[in-house]
Amino acid sequence: MWDRDADLAAPGPTGWAAPTVAALAGLARRSGRAMLDLVLPPACASCRRPVANQSGLCSDCWHALALIERPYCERLGVPFAYDLGPGALSAEAIAHPPPFDRARAVARYDDIAGRLVRALKYRDRQEIAIVMGRMMARAGRELTGSADLIVPVPLHRTRLLLRGFNQSAALARVIAHECGRPLSFDALLRTRATRHQVGLGATERETNVRGAFRVRPEARLEIEGRSVLLVDDVFTSGATVAAATRALRRGGAGRVDVLVFARVVGKLGEPI
Ligand SMILES: [Zn+2]
Repeated sequence: MWDRDADLAAPGPTGWAAPTVAALAGLARRSGRAMLDLVLPPACASCRRPVANQSGLCSDCWHALALIERPYCERLGVPFAYDLGPGALSAEAIAHPPPFDRARAVARYDDIAGRLVRALKYRDRQEIAIVMGRMMARAGRELTGSADLIVPVPLHRTRLLLRGFNQSAALARVIAHECGRPLSFDALLRTRATRHQVGLGATERETNVRGAFRVRPEARLEIEGRSVLLVDDVFTSGATVAAATRALRRGGAGRVDVLVFARVVGKLGEPI
């Protein structure tokens, strides 16, 4: 478990890998970017217009984000076209109940949300993690209120070393700070390197991540009987968070809720 007041430069808590060549390369990259920001003003992650602050998006793009608000399915968090009354579930949630209890997202995954997610993931922009994480903490208030522990979806060790940064861990760190709940970066392990999910269908995605996660044996006491909030950046078919949820349940978790920044939504009430 991470002490939120601990040194932010320590390995793990920041979402960066342990001090490795990749992490040092990341540090050099960030230092370089700080130098660049002195010369070039920061640009909006979506439309590339210059922005005065480091929040990642200009105000026009923030306002254009397709926020997901009630009415939505209480289980899957997909928006409804009209209000079906309190506690209403989507046909999808009834026909195919997910392994997790509730899922919530800040926004629909569209062009703007996608650019923001990629800016965080590939450009290693911590200031974007702060803004996105705060929005997630607000959208997931009901979930954080009943969470005993916040756990990010882990990257496989190899991918973490290559990228030097786990965007889900960076978001989880901000959410834990905002809601004052404990955070565990290493309770859940990704034991198998999986293919990128991009371009895979729902069934392929499920097969790709099946059995890819497990609870670290030393973390069982942290997980057993606890209400866990699983954090990821994007919910596409739900295969990744479903596999991670199953691992948490095998590890003894009680309730498992899912909080993401953006989720793919098909027609209203019908997730793709
Ligand atoms: Zn913009």
